Amino acid sequence: MATVNVVNVAKRHQFSWYEQFYFWSIGKGLWITLKHFVKVAFFNKQKTIEYPEKKRQYSSRFRGMHSMKRDEQGRERCTACFCCMWICPANAILIQAAEVPADRQHLHPEDKYAQKFEIDLLRCIFCGLCEEACPKGAIYLDGTGEMAADNREDLVLTKERMMEKLGGPILGQRI
Ligand code: SF4
Ligand code: SF4
Repeated sequence: MATVNVVNVAKRHQFSWYEQFYFWSIGKGLWITLKHFVKVAFFNKQKTIEYPEKKRQYSSRFRGMHSMKRDEQGRERCTACFCCMWICPANAILIQAAEVPADRQHLHPEDKYAQKFEIDLLRCIFCGLCEEACPKGAIYLDGTGEMAADNREDLVLTKERMMEKLGGPILGQRI
């Protein structure tokens, strides 16, 4: 039985005579290349841009890097409820909660705050579930989409980096 199966598979992958010369596939590839060459060279229709000198406008629905928000009085919205951490399918969020200290001016007036809040961008799949799950409107994926970095540490967003201005942190500029 095993021999018969092998023969059938081999037959299925037999090429016809013109496929064996690959002319058709090579011709198709060359035609596509030629079409793009003509478009770019003579009709100025290139799809690429000179990045980073030029940048594209993202749509309003674009999911970039995470940013963390403050309320109208400048206090951190996050109350370390762990909702985002538990819902994250990529296990990318790490939170360490602590009691709000007496000097709580920069914190939300509830029991806890996120003493440590990190998102590992090498794990994150940008699904947006953390944003949806947050009951405090503390975390949004409204930052930049530029994520080039030359070391792993720069790809871990800390709370402090996410608290930077709207538009998110700039990787490579640690604070
Ligand atoms: S966007 Fe998705 S994967 Fe990334 S941290 Fe949020 S919940 Fe996790
Ligand atoms: S960001 Fe939102 S969901 Fe995550 S711990 Fe803070 S308050 Fe909870």
